[in-house]
Amino acid sequence: MSERVIGIDFGTTNALIAWLDSGSPVIVPNDRGARFTPSVVSYAPGGEVLVGESAKNRAIAAPGDTVRAVKRLLGSGSPVLAGGRPRRPEEIAAEIFRKLRADAERFLGFPVERAVVTVPARFSDAQRRSLREAAALAGIDALRLVNEPTAAALARAWLDRRKPDADTLVLVYDFGGGTFDVTVLRSRGAACEVLASAGDDRLGGLDIDAELYAEVAAAFKADYGLDAEADLFLSQQLWDLVERAKIELSSRDSTEVVLPFMRSAGALAHPSFKITRARLEALATPFVERTIRLTAEALRDAKATGAEVGALVLSGGSSRMPLVRERLGELVRRAPESRVNFEEIVAAGAAVEAAIVSGDAEGFAVRDVATRSYGVEIEGGACAVLVQRNESLPARKRRVFTTIADGQDTVEIHVVQGEERKARDNLSLGRFLLAGVRKARKGEPRILVEFAIDESDLLRVRAKDLDTGAEQRVVVSGSGSDDAAKLALLATRVGELAARTVLEAGLADEIEDAVAAARTAAADGDEAARSEARAVLETLTGELLAARDDGASIKSGLGLAGTVR
Ligand code: AMP
Repeated sequence: MSERVIGIDFGTTNALIAWLDSGSPVIVPNDRGARFTPSVVSYAPGGEVLVGESAKNRAIAAPGDTVRAVKRLLGSGSPVLAGGRPRRPEEIAAEIFRKLRADAERFLGFPVERAVVTVPARFSDAQRRSLREAAALAGIDALRLVNEPTAAALARAWLDRRKPDADTLVLVYDFGGGTFDVTVLRSRGAACEVLASAGDDRLGGLDIDAELYAEVAAAFKADYGLDAEADLFLSQQLWDLVERAKIELSSRDSTEVVLPFMRSAGALAHPSFKITRARLEALATPFVERTIRLTAEALRDAKATGAEVGALVLSGGSSRMPLVRERLGELVRRAPESRVNFEEIVAAGAAVEAAIVSGDAEGFAVRDVATRSYGVEIEGGACAVLVQRNESLPARKRRVFTTIADGQDTVEIHVVQGEERKARDNLSLGRFLLAGVRKARKGEPRILVEFAIDESDLLRVRAKDLDTGAEQRVVVSGSGSDDAAKLALLATRVGELAARTVLEAGLADEIEDAVAAARTAAADGDEAARSEARAVLETLTGELLAARDDGASIKSGLGLAGTVR
């Protein structure tokens, strides 16, 4: 297995690949030579799957086949209808990962099997697991998930790594297409520590587009009788035009949305609508104000003031809006860093983290924080917090609980995530039972609950009766997809290995069936189905490896699949 790890910024609108080449983060271009790939997937008739620019182009002609912003659907568990059938968000996102992987392998010339992938800081456990599964379906082991703003700060800190005395309070304001994140960090030479973060994973440029779209669509209907609601084709076109107009208004005071060559009242016309920056700003203000409030909250949590911020790092396309700079300037009183490219800084940070993970960035380190609080439900429905929001990661916290009834020999551990005092107002991550508790009067048994959160913000829970030693360990997962991710990755690796090995027809078919069955089990199966699929795959891998050792020729130089984490 290759030791080399790449960085992936899997954005709502665009995805980027980067890696650290001789000490500098380098953006890996796609097969068209572009530095980013639109996160759009289109299912063409005949089974062809288009990803990126060509999918985006096809979206206009075939909106029903095309999925945009799939990142917003990860972790939801709800299938999307695309290309005539329902598809899981993970499956759709995997198409994008597959393309990124192919582009990276073509450019870098080595197999890409492991990556650091960035995620919005506010991504929930289920969303993180879902993203990991999508990567796994494309044969990429997402070794670590780094919060996007942390990645941006890391990229900036990397520039200063040779200044060991620098001690700077850094504010990263990341306003992208679908999410907003703000993070406050202290950067000291090669060490970078996250102090606080806040954000909203449903706040981004798309929301501003939606406001502008509503306004423009209403005007086109009133002025030209064009009904975008009834015409998917028109509606897709308008979405694109509106976004372009918004971007244009970051550098101009007014612009026009023009629909070329539309037939209006029988005659050919170019329906148009003029929009000024002032009007756009009025529409965008509620969203921008929300980002400013969250920024103030993060500063408060970090016990810092705007005046103390020594470096302002902007990231995400939406932070190019003049309104954002103006409002941020009032809070932070500092011009944004100019050495970094807003759209590429997160990917560059992922590349730095990838180098850290693979041991190529010695001495350079980052400490992140938990982005939400985690706790368990206790008597009366309250939430007993074990890990507080903004606590340093990795975190390991323990608390001893007890029973609420005499003779109670089983306790339910209900794990929740969020800041509310009542458990039911938080996000439920799962429930499990600890049996074998010592039968005693209520309040006597001592039940230890331990939460461990790793650097990717993924939670593992252990419960143990300190008297009987009865114990339960679970990896908490809203969708149970952690196992699924591993199985999907194994299936992909085995499938790839088989494709590169010349096998007898019987074995090749058997492997193909097993890989398909494992994918189904990973997607829809229960635990039993998954463990059976895993066992079959493992046995077949043994035969596959034996076939290779027998001198079967290998079609390409890619290494052995290796173990699955
Ligand atoms: P990202 O998630 O960083 O790729 O950001 C993409 C978002 O930024 C999309 O909503 C774009 O419309 C928006 N965007 C890109 N450039 C600009 C610009 N110059 N002004 C305003 N919004 C922009």
